[in-house]
Amino acid sequence: MAHPPLLVTYVLWAAIATTICIDAIGTHNKFFSCMNDNFLPFVNTSKYVYTPSAYASLVSTQHNPRCSNSTESQKPIGIVTPENTAQIRAAILCSREHGLQVRVRSGGHDYEGLSYLCKTSFIIIDMRNLRSITIDINHETAWVQSGATLGELYYHIANKSQIHGFPAGICPSVGVGGHFSGGGFGAMVRKYGLAADNIIDAYLIDAKGRLVNRETMGEDLFWAIRGGGGASFGVIVSWKIKLVRVPPKVTVFNVHKNMSQQITKIVHRWQHVAHRVQNELFIRVVIQYIRDDKNTPVQALFNSLFLGELKDLIPLMNKSFPELGLQPEDCIEMSWIESVLYFAGFPRGEPAEALLGNETDPYVSYFKAKSDFVTKPIPKHVFEGIRKKFLRQKLVFLIMDPYGGQMSEIPESHIPFPHRDGNLYNVQYLVKWEKNGVRASTEHIHWLRSLYRYMEPYVSKNPRSAYLNYRDLDLGTNPHANTTYSEARVWGEKYFKGNFKRLAHVKRNVDPKGIEKGKSVKEMKLFSIHLILDRVDPSFSFRNAQMHANMARTQAEQARKNTRTSS
Ligand SMILES: Cc1cc2nc3c(=O)[nH]c(=O)nc-3n(C[C@H](O)[C@H](O)[C@H](O)COP(=O)(O)OP(=O)(O)OC[C@H]3O[C@@H](n4cnc5c(N)ncnc54)[C@H](O)[C@@H]3O)c2cc1C
Repeated sequence: MAHPPLLVTYVLWAAIATTICIDAIGTHNKFFSCMNDNFLPFVNTSKYVYTPSAYASLVSTQHNPRCSNSTESQKPIGIVTPENTAQIRAAILCSREHGLQVRVRSGGHDYEGLSYLCKTSFIIIDMRNLRSITIDINHETAWVQSGATLGELYYHIANKSQIHGFPAGICPSVGVGGHFSGGGFGAMVRKYGLAADNIIDAYLIDAKGRLVNRETMGEDLFWAIRGGGGASFGVIVSWKIKLVRVPPKVTVFNVHKNMSQQITKIVHRWQHVAHRVQNELFIRVVIQYIRDDKNTPVQALFNSLFLGELKDLIPLMNKSFPELGLQPEDCIEMSWIESVLYFAGFPRGEPAEALLGNETDPYVSYFKAKSDFVTKPIPKHVFEGIRKKFLRQKLVFLIMDPYGGQMSEIPESHIPFPHRDGNLYNVQYLVKWEKNGVRASTEHIHWLRSLYRYMEPYVSKNPRSAYLNYRDLDLGTNPHANTTYSEARVWGEKYFKGNFKRLAHVKRNVDPKGIEKGKSVKEMKLFSIHLILDRVDPSFSFRNAQMHANMARTQAEQARKNTRTSS
């Protein structure tokens, strides 16, 4: 894989002096000196940027500004934007040396802001400069760095081949780092499973600064980072993925219907069909209410990708879902990459280059989301209840993504993401608002929680499951640094079901100081599955770490050579 020249942009969040305490200034100076003293050969100091506005501009592309309102969280001591693995290692080791926690940010889309918020002193490792993508069409694989976006990945695949794609999320600005490590699904989920199901190798830097790949990290850790939340285990630098085959021509449609009794029946019927039809067909339903001047009613959108041609889609729909009344004129044939743009909401004819770069993302807004999995069709009257509830809001969405197909074939324990056979679809509830402020947040979140309570009887139970990438801190957080496994289970089993236990074991092995050794999994302390380096090892010394760093540097060089050779 091509690596950019050695250079680091290390942006210190030197906040306006009046708002930062002396301690924090001291710590960031020490952290900076550590980076400077110990890693001078690896960083170009002229590229250090000191600017009070740096933090604001770096996080301005975060996708849920609600999270910045958090009064509990601190601002970071520094933001490191590494351009190579040595710099990541430097940031990890220097943060340990100075008792700082680390947050890792790739695309910044975390629903609860976990990639850039922390209650105690911390640094952010921002992966924005590590976004190279190397496609190997002969072997149908690619290496992609975590800082790349899904849009960039799709673009580069399509640039090399019209018959390859990758089954990941729909929004092009989502970062590969968070998305892959939390599962990741999109319009090809029924045919090919999750993004994480299609990962075949990865490079990760662990809490000790070691650079490891699949072979050297071992199968347990490799299992954990594919859906178990990467930041609990290290900084994932890059991923090797298996590309999938797509036909040269696919067909899409987006049928809008105003919610009425008749449409409620069709939505209800969809629940019996969408998970069962052939794997090439993905039809999701978005129920939305966008209150505007035109008195637009609550709508149901049937949004579909068919990995095939129109001539095959129409008879398939007539047979399996005639209730929708799909007509050829509702459909458009296009290439797979055009379908990516279509799903992302770009106007027809927009060039694929629109998928590059995420600086002007249209999705930035205040929002709160929750998720469920549905195992039995929801009764009709519930959809009518949802419609009525929606009318009390201004901007609300209920997104239902069908599973079945390949998702039912993959065993629950294959990777940490456990929501497989038996799930008809995933539901995401999303409320957005335009006005900043605690009052607006409280009102909207309160409304969403009441919708979530309303849905309880109709969704998965014991546990009521949720999708990690739709992170929801209402499900539980670790109350203190010494959170035990039993305490963490409260939220852990909702995201991971039976796989949570194995994740906790992996965490213990990766970060033994975070979890007391020798204890059974039931007794062991689990500081956080979300976060890395929450507890700093008191016996840590930089000198010992230097040894590690030297070793890791040699490994990194080797890895670089290997990836260059493979590309
Ligand atoms: C507009 C929008 C659309 C979305 N659409 C979809 C969709 O279609 N399908 C779907 O499945 N999900 C979707 N999501 C959810 C998305 O997959 C998650 O929010 C995902 O975690 C975002 O990854 P990120 O890198 O952008 O976020 P970040 O905020 O950067 O990271 C998310 C989490 O991953 C950790 N992390 C990030 N990078 C690394 C790394 N390199 N190493 C270790 N840990 C890391 C962070 O610390 C944080 O805990 C969407 C989200 C948004 C906001």
